[in-house]
Parts: sequence; C-alpha cells; structure tokens
Amino acid sequence: MTDPVTVFTFPQPTINGPLHVGHLSGPYLAADIAARAARARGERVVVTTGLDVHQNYVLTRAEREGLEVGAMTADFRDDIKDTYGLARIGFDYFTDPLGEEHTPIIRQLMNHLVSTGAAPLREVTLHACADCGRTLHESYLSGLCGECKASAAGGACEQCGSFTQVDTMVDPVCGRCGGEPRPFTATVPVLRMENHRETLIATWLRADLPPAVRDLIDRTLRAGLPEIALAYPTNWGIEGDGPLTGLRIGPYTEIALSDLYGVARAVDPDADDATGYLAALDRVDHLWHFLGLDNAFWYALYWPAVWAAAGVARLPLAGLVVNEFYTFDGEKFSTSRNHGITATELLRTSDPSIVRLFLAWDRPDRYRSDFTFNSFRAFADRVEPLLAGVHRVSEPLDPALAAIERARGESALRPSGFDLPLAVRSLLTLLAGGVHDTGSLRAALTGSE
Ligand SMILES: [Zn+2]
Ligand SMILES: [Zn+2]
Repeated sequence: MTDPVTVFTFPQPTINGPLHVGHLSGPYLAADIAARAARARGERVVVTTGLDVHQNYVLTRAEREGLEVGAMTADFRDDIKDTYGLARIGFDYFTDPLGEEHTPIIRQLMNHLVSTGAAPLREVTLHACADCGRTLHESYLSGLCGECKASAAGGACEQCGSFTQVDTMVDPVCGRCGGEPRPFTATVPVLRMENHRETLIATWLRADLPPAVRDLIDRTLRAGLPEIALAYPTNWGIEGDGPLTGLRIGPYTEIALSDLYGVARAVDPDADDATGYLAALDRVDHLWHFLGLDNAFWYALYWPAVWAAAGVARLPLAGLVVNEFYTFDGEKFSTSRNHGITATELLRTSDPSIVRLFLAWDRPDRYRSDFTFNSFRAFADRVEPLLAGVHRVSEPLDPALAAIERARGESALRPSGFDLPLAVRSLLTLLAGGVHDTGSLRAALTGSE
C-alpha cells in the first residue's frame, strides 16, 4: 500500500456556454484553494475535473443558434480551459469527452455494469414527445418539480435537489416543443438504487454532509430510492456498443463513470480497466466533492450508487463541500441565456488575485449571495493596497493576535468545516495589521506563489 491520497473533485461544467462568475464563486475556486491549502499542510492531494458534453442542453443550444455542435463544443472547451488558466485553477486529471480515450473507457465500464449483473437489461416504460419524438430527459423535459413545485427540467430540481423525470413531475411536457409525453417501452440497463441502500446508508453515516443534503437523502430514502435507466434511445450522448448497441449512455451515468476512472487514473496513471480502476480507488483515503446544491442528488445519491454497482468495495466519500447559487444583480447567472458577464471577461479586465479574493470573500455558502460591480470595485479599491503592501498601517496587529488569526484562517481551509469567507477575512486582517507572515493563506487564496 502506497501513501494514502486525498482527492478533491470539482464539477465537469456542461459546455453549452462559457463559465460565468457564478461557477467560479462556487466549487471551482473552492476546490483549488482547498487543494493548495492541503498541499501546504504536507498532504498528498490530487484534483480531478473534466467536461460534460453529453447533457442535451449542448445540442439544444447548437440547434437554437444554428451552430455546428462539434465546432461549438470545441470553442467552449478552449474558453473554459482559458478561464481555468486565468483564474489559476489547477487540476491533476481532466476527463475530456471530446478527446480520443474517453468514449472507449465509458463503453467498457458500461458493459462491465451490464455483464456483472449490476445493471441488468430490462424492459421499462420511458417517455417521448408526442409531437417531435424526442426522448424526454434534461432539456427535452420541462414541468414542475413533484416535491417543491418549482419549474424544473429533467434530471434534478435546481431548487430542492429532487430527482425529476416524467413520472415524478407535475405537468411534464417536452422542453423543446411543448408536446405531451407519450409512453414507449424499451429494453435498457437499469440501476436499482435500492439494491445499494445499505452501502449508501453506511457511507452517508460516515460522510461529512451539510443539512440540506441530509434532508434530500432523508426525503429520497422515505420515498424509495429510484430506479434509473443508464442508457436509452435518444439523439445525443455516447452510443453504446455490445449489449447496448442502439442506446445512448445517459449523461449523469457517464459523469459517474468519468469520475470513477478520472479519480482512479489520478491515483494510478497505469490503471486501464475496471479491475485497475477499482484497485486504484482502494488507495483513495478521502474523497471530497466540491459542488453546488443543484448537483447534490448526483454527488450524494446517484454517483455513489453507480460506484457501488461498479464494484467499488469501500466508497471513499469523505464529504461534500456545497454552495448555494451566486446571483448577479439579484438574478441567477445562466450559461444558456448568456446572462451577466463571463468569467473570462472579468479575469481579463481585473487582477485575478482580486477576483479570487472577492469571490471567496463573498462566497454563497451559508446563503445565496449577490455579485454587483459596485461591491467588486469597492473591494478592489480596499484590498489592492493591502496586497501591494502600500497602505498605511494605522493599527499594527500584535504578533500574538496575528498567530491566532493565521491559525484560524488556515484551519478554515480544511474541507471539513470549510469556510472560505472566514479565511479571506483572516488574510485581510493580517495584511491590514502590517503582518507579513500570512502562513499559507495568501498563496492558497490568491493562487500566486
Ligand atoms: Zn417535442
Ligand atoms: Zn424541487
């Protein structure tokens, strides 16, 4: 057994647009800062992420704008990677569905799930649009969440996190043309999450989970864990082969498997089949996912179930670091509406250290917070002189107090009890008090060495 490894992941963004400031303020910066802080403590940490190409929001955007989808996704991939570079967001392993190696791995893992009996082929009822014929999932499905009655698409409700499909929604219709759902039967691989109830409960009891996620788990357990079709006939997504010929792999299942092999390869670059990935995952001591609350169903419930079905003997989930939405002048940032400003624009026109510190200082963790240019500029005016060390120190901080401030700030960057806004406040207090030794805080928070 080699050294234990801690793994941090941040979500694969759906490439139906550039990253917006809301993305950065949530899991993306947080995972990077937590990883820098952990390395400064001497821990062995790897960070994984990638891209989500196969939610049908991607095809929907290309079709609506008359773009060739391959060219559009390649452009957004480049833009997203530029944003990570500008924001100094690092990662050790990147799963790229637009690259050569991804599709064969996903097919191999899917066939592993079917051949081991973990996801047997069964005849099930699915729904297509009575008018345009599209299979109703993600952007092709629209209605009200059965749980909280908010407007939702297929997948998971952005408000309460509940799983949303035709049967669980109120007034479901086609998200593309408004047509009525028409049932049809298909033989598809199905994961019965209930088969993994005991393993999941044991994992949840151990894991560090925020109350909103525990509520979601509790509600879902009481209603019964869903059965989920892992692949189905539709017009977007990776095409199955072997027993899955004619079906496409569902995007959320693909991402569960992307994380499975991505985390495994980050630990053991030579792993190249299910046995190798499972052995590599056994070396993961702690797995922390950084995510927005809208993704909680996948990270807390569905992906651990897929991993258990794939044969991961001991789920390494240590916890979830979850944020709420960040709004822009009171409204939701939205990729598909091109609302607000892109992260790249902000990073190209402002000092990235200030962008990182501001978004960390105002992180939407304990409530939804709101980005405005007024507050961003006021923050920059106040903090730039502190970073440059050109401000007048009117009240020098006593060294005994500086040590306490430093220790408190560094401790706030551990994933358990992660409190990014507190860490920034500690750094600013130190700088304002004329303290030069900021421990690991300045480098971790600004991303500059
Ligand atoms: Zn339709
Ligand atoms: Zn809901």
